[in-house]
Amino acid sequence: MGEADPGFDRRRVERAVREILDAMGIEGLDETPGRVAEAYAHLFRGLREDPLRHLEVSFDEGARDLVLMRDIPFVSNCEHHLLPMIGRAGAAYLPEGKVLGFSEFVRVVEGYAARPQLQERLTAQVADALHGGMGSRGSLVVVEAEHTCMAATGAWRPGARAVTSAARGVFGEDPALRAEVTALLSTGP
Ligand SMILES: [Zn+2]
Repeated sequence: MGEADPGFDRRRVERAVREILDAMGIEGLDETPGRVAEAYAHLFRGLREDPLRHLEVSFDEGARDLVLMRDIPFVSNCEHHLLPMIGRAGAAYLPEGKVLGFSEFVRVVEGYAARPQLQERLTAQVADALHGGMGSRGSLVVVEAEHTCMAATGAWRPGARAVTSAARGVFGEDPALRAEVTALLSTGP
């Protein structure tokens, strides 16, 4: 990332931010364009990576029983306004032998979050990665996030969260299983 990243033209982003500030009649803030470019380089780093590569760090354990991780915090940015959506993701899968390292769960979520996103797409991408991507029997993903871009329509209320869920494979076919694991994924109060 940063200066050496060929997919991210830092100087151009800085110039564009300067232009936005000028267009709003904001003078000074000389350091701000550079800082915003730095932040964008980090927030959108996922555009230059394929999160599926994290699935290569998996172990063949002959496992068949449920694997689940919840309360994975993430920061993403909505593609409509480029404003933060901040939330937590929970993800579960039923292995077909192969299991994923726990830190890879986090990296898959972060990799898809670090792009201009829609919460619905983020949820679906993580579910697809944990089912088709890694060859599991099924996956279930629940994402909760606060969307600061709702401020653009005056509708933002701190604490109001959108919840999305995606089920693949056996979780899509078995409502009782889906309900049981959704309860496990639900983040507490
Ligand atoms: Zn938005």
